[in-house]
Amino acid sequence: MRSSRQPAALGALAAVVLVLATGTAPAAAVRTEDKVPVAVGTGGAVATVDAEATAAGLQVLRRGGNAVDAAVAAAATLGVTEPYSAGIGGGGFFVYFDAATGQVHTIDGRETAPLTMGPDAFVEDGAPIPFGEAVTSGLSAGVPGTPATWATALERWGTMNLRQALHPAIAVARRGFVVDQTFADQTAANADRFAAFTSTAELFLPGGAPPEVGSVFRNRDLADTYRLIAKDGVQALYTGELAQEIVDTVQSPPTVPGTTLTVRPGLMQLGDLAAYTAPLREPTHVSYRGLDVYGMAPPSSGGSTVGEALNILETVDVGALSRTQALHHYLEASALAFADRNRYVGDSDVVDVPLGELLSDDFAAERACLIGEAAAPKPVPAGSPDGEYAPCDPAPAGPGTDAGDGEGLSTTHLTTADRWGNVVAYTLTIESTGGNGIVVPDRGFLLNNELTDFNFTDGQGGADPNLPGPGKRPRSSMAPTIVLDDGRPVLAVGTPGGSTIITTVLQVLVNRLDLGMTLPEAIAAPRATQRNTASVQAEPTFPRTDLEALGHTFADNPEIGAATGIELTPDGFVAAAEPVRRGGGSAGVVDAG
Ligand code: GLU
Repeated sequence: MRSSRQPAALGALAAVVLVLATGTAPAAAVRTEDKVPVAVGTGGAVATVDAEATAAGLQVLRRGGNAVDAAVAAAATLGVTEPYSAGIGGGGFFVYFDAATGQVHTIDGRETAPLTMGPDAFVEDGAPIPFGEAVTSGLSAGVPGTPATWATALERWGTMNLRQALHPAIAVARRGFVVDQTFADQTAANADRFAAFTSTAELFLPGGAPPEVGSVFRNRDLADTYRLIAKDGVQALYTGELAQEIVDTVQSPPTVPGTTLTVRPGLMQLGDLAAYTAPLREPTHVSYRGLDVYGMAPPSSGGSTVGEALNILETVDVGALSRTQALHHYLEASALAFADRNRYVGDSDVVDVPLGELLSDDFAAERACLIGEAAAPKPVPAGSPDGEYAPCDPAPAGPGTDAGDGEGLSTTHLTTADRWGNVVAYTLTIESTGGNGIVVPDRGFLLNNELTDFNFTDGQGGADPNLPGPGKRPRSSMAPTIVLDDGRPVLAVGTPGGSTIITTVLQVLVNRLDLGMTLPEAIAAPRATQRNTASVQAEPTFPRTDLEALGHTFADNPEIGAATGIELTPDGFVAAAEPVRRGGGSAGVVDAG
């Protein structure tokens, strides 16, 4: 979804319309203040795409909670205010720096395929199902991982229980939030398919139309669902009363009689939900110019691809290059790393991912030799991460494949940090904007379509690491990232954007670490994404001319990503979100001084 709203103007509009729209409702209870994209201060920090979520995180920090408590509170609030991007019907990846131990931990909250799902699940009569039909279906819904992620994070590292952490989100769901242009636009863009499901139409198309900008949107069903989870724990969803309802929704989507949409049922059963776990995974790690960069391991390709590209870039002094040469190297390193991602990365519990080799300096050196004065023709072939490297004499391993997956602006990333130095980078999603379009009846949340992140057919001659499989997790691009300097966290970032997540995180890191930008500048700077495709997609203000002279070709992309991040300085925190993209994000600190 794209948005061109102006947040400052919106705040004023919302405050006025609110009075008209809510009648006797207590207007003072609904947040109307503007959000700010940059906040500097002490005591803790939160950066999200949304003012309500940032306020929830700050509230928890002010009450003595830590970064993990704040992250769960903010994420749960995003489930209310950004229900088309994230929620308990989806999944995500949680990266955590623990100040007490100096360790980085990650939780893999990726959705799983049902145990009865085989490699041909998205093929009918020898042909892949049309992508749009696969999205809006029961078939695309993976077992949600977000509730298990929250429970795991709080149990292991939090100071609050679920009831406390969900409290701010329950309050927002009950009192409502002011509908902004992005929410209205996202609803309108989904209106046709939302109208096809009784449960979704009832919640998101009240009176048959998208909620108006400035009106107050409440989600009491979700408040009640959060209360149930707060009371019974997340097992309510995996083995309790919600489990049967999710299975029923997936197996018999609640379509409106006479809908013209083809809506396939899904395979999920109670046993799939009961079997779900959100395991801890070793983070990926690379060193980059003396810093330690930690990211998300498979089933995400985020950590391995950002890490490989950084290793490739580290073979030159990017900061000493001209801006054009620096960007040329960024684009070429991205393409090379994507070639390897597409060829080798999938769910490492199911396929053999050569992660150590993909992240080795020797492999990076071999790959870096392919960067010449001019742009290489794309797609570039994948390399051979086999432990035998020949610097500057590379032997291509076969034909290249391009990314083959999306670049939506669904998904959301939040970053939190506390006064003790704990830091969380957390990216969560329901995949497409609006997920699979199906609300679990009377429960207030959408299901994901994460299983469309699998490749539907094998384009790699039997070698595709990302085909569907029983219990398998589809490959992700989510790349929540934490950077340490001598054991201390200095930076945490992440973004939505499908496979552009990887290049946006990489570009923000290069902007900040190599090109001398501040974190807010690094996030605001124009973006380009080269995912091993013929053309580079670039935002309108990205400088192209000198790169075109080197052979790069460009295609327009009006808006790439919606990043948030926190920098930890000797003086405190710089929290940063988007100033413009997706309507602008919301940064806050506990004490602005
Ligand atoms: N499902 C995508 C992934 O895991 C994220 C979707 C998006 O950011 O638009 O990579």
